[in-house]
Amino acid sequence: MNINRRQFCALGTAGALAAIAGGVAVGCSSESASAKDGGSAPAASAMAIGDANVNFSKEVDVLIVGAGISGMLASIDPAKAGKSVLIVEQNGTYGGDAIYSAACQMCTTAELTKEERPDKYSSEDEIREKFAPYYEGNEAGLERTVLLQKWGGKFIDTMHYDWGYEFQELRESPYHQAFFPKNGLCTMKDEFELMNEKVTEAGAEYLFETTFKTLITDENGTIAGGRFISKDGSVVDIKAKAVVLAGGGYISNQEWMVKYAPEWAFVGNIVSGRKGDTIAAGVAAGGTLSGMMASSNLNPLYEAGHMLATFYPLIALLPNGKRFYCETAVHNAATGCLAAGYNEWYSIWDGTAQNGIDQEVIAHAGDAIQSADSIEELAEKMGLALETVQAAFDNWDTICDNQEDPEFGKTLFLQKLVPPYYFLRNVPVRYKSCGGLTVSDRMEVLDGDGNPIPNLYAAGCTAGTEDIVPAAGSGLLLGTVLAEDVA
Ligand SMILES: Cc1cc2nc3c(=O)[nH]c(=O)nc-3n(C[C@H](O)[C@H](O)[C@H](O)COP(=O)(O)OP(=O)(O)OC[C@H]3O[C@@H](n4cnc5c(N)ncnc54)[C@H](O)[C@@H]3O)c2cc1C
Repeated sequence: MNINRRQFCALGTAGALAAIAGGVAVGCSSESASAKDGGSAPAASAMAIGDANVNFSKEVDVLIVGAGISGMLASIDPAKAGKSVLIVEQNGTYGGDAIYSAACQMCTTAELTKEERPDKYSSEDEIREKFAPYYEGNEAGLERTVLLQKWGGKFIDTMHYDWGYEFQELRESPYHQAFFPKNGLCTMKDEFELMNEKVTEAGAEYLFETTFKTLITDENGTIAGGRFISKDGSVVDIKAKAVVLAGGGYISNQEWMVKYAPEWAFVGNIVSGRKGDTIAAGVAAGGTLSGMMASSNLNPLYEAGHMLATFYPLIALLPNGKRFYCETAVHNAATGCLAAGYNEWYSIWDGTAQNGIDQEVIAHAGDAIQSADSIEELAEKMGLALETVQAAFDNWDTICDNQEDPEFGKTLFLQKLVPPYYFLRNVPVRYKSCGGLTVSDRMEVLDGDGNPIPNLYAAGCTAGTEDIVPAAGSGLLLGTVLAEDVA
């Protein structure tokens, strides 16, 4: 299928990237303009430098860019409905960010929530009321959040009731509104293996180690496929009736961070390959951006010092020996550290956490975790004065004796630490972006007038979600839409 540029053109994603950085959303590239003019301009003069002619090597019904949780889940329903579905992924395997994440799956809308932890269950109206303050003057944004929370609940219920996954039983923790994998923190791999089973059972296929470059349009400027670069550098053009943009967010795009989230732009980044490629492609096709800003929280470099505090006694100290947040409120650590004027902090725990079920989160920190048999050794290894560390322990022991934390109101795990101690030095990092393409309630990419761009859909962070459960929900919702829309 070697097709002349008069009939199909590759949208200028690189141009869209530059335009986004300059704050302008662009439409189709000049190639498509010349194609629309009936091809009067010579093809060569209309070509982007270095771009090959469109040459489809494969044709599918649904083309999904990105094998993260949203892309994978969007594939199942259309594949089950008999559509040919291909998920193209730049990496060598599926899972995206979530497979390496802490795997804290916040969800208050599932039937499983109602059944197992009814005090945490939220109805649609309660969700709307909870999120309303964040969406003043943005009714559509509020409604989409409510919708994705609802579909997030469907993700948890699908995993549990339909696919037989047993989430972890409730442990003492302030996060009873979150579902965790059965084997502890950071172990979402088995959930992904199950999702992958459902993807492949449904008949969807993957193409790995192949990187999305740009969208392809037909002679009418309608989305007709995508262009990719394979591992050996060759161009792969895939024709499709519908294209799903699910390549995640833009946290590793430094230019965009400076533009959209300058507060976090110079905080170190731990995620690679999230340059906003699929967001830029949506903009190049006429889409618009919503909610671009700094994400609601930063992460610690090592999840161990962050998430262990969810379930175990742990104290966190600044280099001046002071506690600086309620350690069970794990998301306040990195921002709290910066707000206190520091760029690092220490998390200290003992055998209770070290020997608990959360071995994977500890393994993630590897050699960064050190141990000490006494406070003297701990202070020496931390590089702090003994008096500073001793004072911090004395303060913590008093809190435990009184079972009251006057400074930060911590109520759980007020338990003295006993040797051997374990500690690591953590630093704040950025790890997820906020905002993405404006989409409809059916996950269609919307143009500047609020109309769906034919054949173009988005899910997950590309469509502005920030967490695992809404990303998953957006994928499931989109799956039902694709099964219906794609003839
Ligand atoms: C360290 C860390 C910890 C986290 N912890 C939590 C947590 O505990 N709870 C929570 O709710 N959320 C957490 N998150 C956020 C969560 O992981 C994401 O919100 C979720 O994974 C988003 O899913 P997604 O499908 O939108 O995108 P992603 O997971 O980003 O998947 C996108 C996929 O697209 C691929 N891709 C990108 N560009 C291209 C391209 N040009 N061509 C081909 N493929 C491409 C990527 O390789 C990736 O596989 C964490 C994130 C990180 C990084």
